[in-house]
Amino acid sequence: MFWGRFMTLPLVDQLSDKGLLKEQAYIGGRWHNALNNETFEVVDPATERVIANVANLGAEQTALAIKLADTAMREWRAQPAKSRSEILERWYQLITDNVEDLAIIMSAEQGKTLVESRGEIAYSASFIKWFAEEGKRVYGDVIPHAQNDRRGITIKQAIGVVAAITPWNFPSAMITRKVAPALAVGCAVVLKPAAETPLSALALAELADRAGLPAGLLNIITGVDAVAIGGELTSNLLVKKLTFTGSTPIGKLLMAQCAASVKRTSMELGGNAPLLVFDDADLDLVIPGIITAKFRNSGQTCISANRILVQKGIHKEFVERLKLAIDAFNFGAYSSSESTHGPLITQKAVDNVAAKVNKAVLEGATLVCGGQIVDRPGHFYAATILTEVTDKMSIFHEEIFGPVATIYQFETDQQAIDLANDTPFGLAAYLYTESMRRSWQVAEALDYGMIGVNETAISAEIVPFGGVKESGQGREGSKYGLDDYLEIKYICFGSMNK
Ligand code: ADP
Repeated sequence: MFWGRFMTLPLVDQLSDKGLLKEQAYIGGRWHNALNNETFEVVDPATERVIANVANLGAEQTALAIKLADTAMREWRAQPAKSRSEILERWYQLITDNVEDLAIIMSAEQGKTLVESRGEIAYSASFIKWFAEEGKRVYGDVIPHAQNDRRGITIKQAIGVVAAITPWNFPSAMITRKVAPALAVGCAVVLKPAAETPLSALALAELADRAGLPAGLLNIITGVDAVAIGGELTSNLLVKKLTFTGSTPIGKLLMAQCAASVKRTSMELGGNAPLLVFDDADLDLVIPGIITAKFRNSGQTCISANRILVQKGIHKEFVERLKLAIDAFNFGAYSSSESTHGPLITQKAVDNVAAKVNKAVLEGATLVCGGQIVDRPGHFYAATILTEVTDKMSIFHEEIFGPVATIYQFETDQQAIDLANDTPFGLAAYLYTESMRRSWQVAEALDYGMIGVNETAISAEIVPFGGVKESGQGREGSKYGLDDYLEIKYICFGSMNK
């Protein structure tokens, strides 16, 4: 009861540390209003209440941040990796110490339950710890040269000022996956978070500041004019690299913009993840796996199981058991401890999901449950199962980004593989089977950057996250996650026999 009343308080009064709620942008180690003092509203998607008014910046302040980042980086990259690592370790510790407040801020602006937000904060922090350690292991090579009077070596150096643009579905983790490796190797970052969820980004910056990160190395540009801010980030010659997580169309646009000054890019873009359930699968594993892969964050993740392909022999039992599991869901605000799932981010998102489901039904899919907008304040769409879905329907080709499970049927392994690969996307894919041989064969045949075999919770700081085809390029996390922020320099020593 107390919890319910507590959560109707203004956001700032829900926090133990009120200094974590920031509404100004963070540039050059200082908090800034917009030049014209304009602000934009941040809204709780579960209640539609305004929870903050955040500085609405444009191109001019973005350019200022880039300039300050460039200056700050020069000293930062000259330091030993160990010193940078110590600051990152402190940042990690402060995030870990403030999980509860950070989770409340995230749930308030994004809608996910507190359980999910706490999980994301821990996951987000794990990237900082990981890269604090990995940043000390940036090794070069000594290359046996083709001519015996020469010696060749390579060293790896920070690429320079990094621009980062991040989405609203993981308001904290999508930031640390980029910022931590960049800072660890000696880069500075100018980051534009999604306008829907700027508060988590600003709270991270506040904690970085408290951790002693020198001014100018992390800059948070808040604003709704993504075209103006993105235009400056992609055209400014001081920026050497753009890292982006978001939709494929915007990723392509930003790559084109970066081409003019040949900036390095790394892209985490859309997905259309297949999840294959073979006849020999263990449904006790499959059902909880799908609840995670399909319904976490109410289906708003780029690795959500977007197409569930089920072999004919197990189809009937699978649908019955999935429906039973979904019946236990309770959509609601984070303020209620009863909520198992949160809202979608905006009304537009709800309308998009509704339109996709309605079209699929018109095209011949069967609605097993859900299929409607929930009649209550906030942006809620009911958990939905569609069966008899086929590759002839438009929903086969679309990223649903909502709590909608679409079930396809197949007969042979080859059919499943062909269906799974019939998409321009290639981020994550999952398969359930008890056969070791089939696991290998199918995993090798799937054109995806990440494959979960009898597992859907595949992401962690220690393994590479990223896609192939139109799902992007580059890898985040793991030992490979540093590569996107490093240049390889070859140094040739000549006349060695003199
Ligand atoms: P979504 O549909 O999930 O919001 P987007 O690709 O539109 O995905 O957004 C991801 C991020 O890209 C957000 O921070 C958004 O503000 C930003 N963004 C959107 N359009 C542009 C653009 N033209 N230039 C730069 N950034 C953009």
